[in-house]
Amino acid sequence: MEVKEGSLCKSCREGKLRKREVNQTFEREGLEVKIDGIPALVCDSCRQIYFPPGIGDKIAAAANGLFKLSEIKHAGGYRAVV
Ligand SMILES: [Zn+2]
Repeated sequence: MEVKEGSLCKSCREGKLRKREVNQTFEREGLEVKIDGIPALVCDSCRQIYFPPGIGDKIAAAANGLFKLSEIKHAGGYRAVV
């Protein structure tokens, strides 16, 4: 089922979904990367985030790319926010 702006939230069944840009933080083996400005729909009641079809895959690919970058940048082992 397609999720679009104005749809009823499937999580709380009270809020409506609004278009927003969100941030997502990913962590892998002590490395942390953050992606800003992801287009998403956010429930105005419970803040559940819904990504449009296809966006999830793109975010995962972007996160993977950032992790690779972080591994190169940090031969040491401290946490990084890209
Ligand atoms: Zn909700």
